[in-house]
Amino acid sequence: MKFQPTERIKALPPYIFVELNRKKRVLIDAGHDVIELGIGDPERPTYRFIVDRLKQAAEDPANHRYMLLYGCPGFRRQAAEFFEQRYGVTLEPNTEILTLIGSKEGIGHLPPAVVNPGRGVLVPNPGYPAYRATTLFADGVPHDLPLSEERGWLPDLEAVPADVARNTVLMYLNYPNNPTGACASLEFFERALAFARKHEIILAHDAAYNEMYFGEERPPSILQLPGAKDIAIEFHSTSKTFNMTGWRIAFAAGNKDVLAALGKIKSNIDSGQFAAVQEAGIAAYAGFDRPELHESRAMYHERAKVMAAGLREAGFRAAEPRATFYVWAGVPSGYNSTSAANKLLEEAHVVGVPGHGFGTMGEGYIRFAVTVDLDRTRTALKRIKALKW
Ligand SMILES: *Cc1c(COP(=O)(O)O)cnc(C)c1O
Repeated sequence: MKFQPTERIKALPPYIFVELNRKKRVLIDAGHDVIELGIGDPERPTYRFIVDRLKQAAEDPANHRYMLLYGCPGFRRQAAEFFEQRYGVTLEPNTEILTLIGSKEGIGHLPPAVVNPGRGVLVPNPGYPAYRATTLFADGVPHDLPLSEERGWLPDLEAVPADVARNTVLMYLNYPNNPTGACASLEFFERALAFARKHEIILAHDAAYNEMYFGEERPPSILQLPGAKDIAIEFHSTSKTFNMTGWRIAFAAGNKDVLAALGKIKSNIDSGQFAAVQEAGIAAYAGFDRPELHESRAMYHERAKVMAAGLREAGFRAAEPRATFYVWAGVPSGYNSTSAANKLLEEAHVVGVPGHGFGTMGEGYIRFAVTVDLDRTRTALKRIKALKW
């Protein structure tokens, strides 16, 4: 038998990081100093107070067993507490919060829970690739929700064709946004909820960057809106907020029927996150307002400011983001995403992600993650500015 992957697998777009990594490897092997601004992964270690809690929790045999879905109520209670303190929203920990093994896990398991084969899912373009990929895994149909610079990277919901809206059962939004760094107001969320309500669409808001904001204005939760729980869920994660990408601890909050369906899928697939990691997650959310986090926000803000200004001097179009650690830059004229990213890599030894990797609407842009210190950021900029564009 000659093995053939399924049609679902064949329908996936190529994973852009693979080719990028191959080229990067060649340069590193040749002895070049490559500056990695591609992958969105904080370079700083997880905060001490969280690591310490894990160490302690790992020693407790009570934590060594299967946790199953509802086995560790402490994390869900703490998530609810965080929601109350940060957003002024009251959630019932046992039904309106679901513990996840990273928010990507929850995103990936949502389509089989709520999308029947052939039904539509509105996915932002450009956007986090998992929305589209995992829709395909459930034999759902991804429909583009185009985002554009002119509209501040917010979708024009009025422009969604009637037949698409009719077929759609799930819509993803993600603000603060990856890859563009754009933010949304509560007023925008209100319009999105009205659209979802009108067409009976579940609204899944990915809030992975809600706690990575700069300045006084903190990004809102969609669950702050009255009646949001009737139709919306929201994904929150420790990954970016607490430098915990490797730990895999996150939660979904909101509509209890959607969360119950997602929980049903999960309980047939995983047996819960390690309880000691959930304990560490409790420490994290209890510490969401600690000074270390504010210092980290200031640090990313400074880097993003320097990066955006430097890119503009080099001939890119780049606005300073108000949240996330991404600078989303329009490439100089005469280039597209790929040719600009290749030039950066080959001539400046700087890795940025070509925007089309996040969808067709990302063509003409490059995403830079400011995950190196200020000195390295400046070195990268010096090299970029030295190129002829
Ligand atoms: C990083 C990221 C996630 C995944 O976070 P995990 O909780 O680590 O799975 C989800 N959504 C977006 C938009 C991200 O950038």
